Amino acid sequence: MNYKNYALVMFAVLISSVSFSSAFATHISGTVENDFNQPLDGAFVTSECIGNYNTATTDSNGDYSVGPNCSGSVNSVQANQYFFDRERQTSVANSATGIDFDLSTITSETVDIWVMNDEGKFTQSAIENHIAAAEEKFKLEHSINFDVVYYSSWNPSDETTCGDAYTTARSTANWPTTNHGAEVLIATYDDSFTDGYACTVRYTSSGNDPSIILANDSGNYPRTIMHEFGHSYSLTHDYGCTNPIPHVMLACGQAHSDYVMNFNNTSDDDVHTNRSWY
Ligand SMILES: [Zn+2]
Repeated sequence: MNYKNYALVMFAVLISSVSFSSAFATHISGTVENDFNQPLDGAFVTSECIGNYNTATTDSNGDYSVGPNCSGSVNSVQANQYFFDRERQTSVANSATGIDFDLSTITSETVDIWVMNDEGKFTQSAIENHIAAAEEKFKLEHSINFDVVYYSSWNPSDETTCGDAYTTARSTANWPTTNHGAEVLIATYDDSFTDGYACTVRYTSSGNDPSIILANDSGNYPRTIMHEFGHSYSLTHDYGCTNPIPHVMLACGQAHSDYVMNFNNTSDDDVHTNRSWY
């Protein structure tokens, strides 16, 4: 069962009655409902268009209203609830300046992944489902697919920091000398660290064989994997932590940032520029 089905069984967030006002949408309203068509409180709704990004939190009636104020472009809207599914209704711009989001005109890219799993936390299918959920936004907006081409387990000894575990994982895997056809290594770790719950190599140049470490307290695993993959495409946290727009690369601890699995426009641009790295 894939991640999406799993989430739907648990508690789905669906957007209903979204109205777009032609191609020049300036306002979106709707109701966020669960699988049983009941209003869902506390969902976090984001809308995005080129050069703009807006958010709203549903009230007790499950209703929301966001104003993307897109000029001449269409927008996307999605609802998120921590730990649960998100459903995205989208019609992404292809007429705005900057990024070409028209995926019909670009070649898809595939990132081959080696999962090295410390199996105390995740089964193989669980971690692969989290990776598939993280893939969604890369796929929808940038035509980048994730493919787990090799799987192995490992049993690391106690490591205090993510940085130490990162070094140990690469050494254990003999990465990247041994890669089993993979381009990115994702190693899970069945414990927590003192310096955060995930880390990845900081991008220095394309094709640098990144590896990602994921601890057992990462919370929203798909979002964390997506965030770390963002680093592998050069994305940083340098978007400002003062009144930030919630997005996936935030690492400021602001309320709601954990809800959002969405690139901001700067991130979108950078991912698109670097989409052929792997
Ligand atoms: Zn980060």
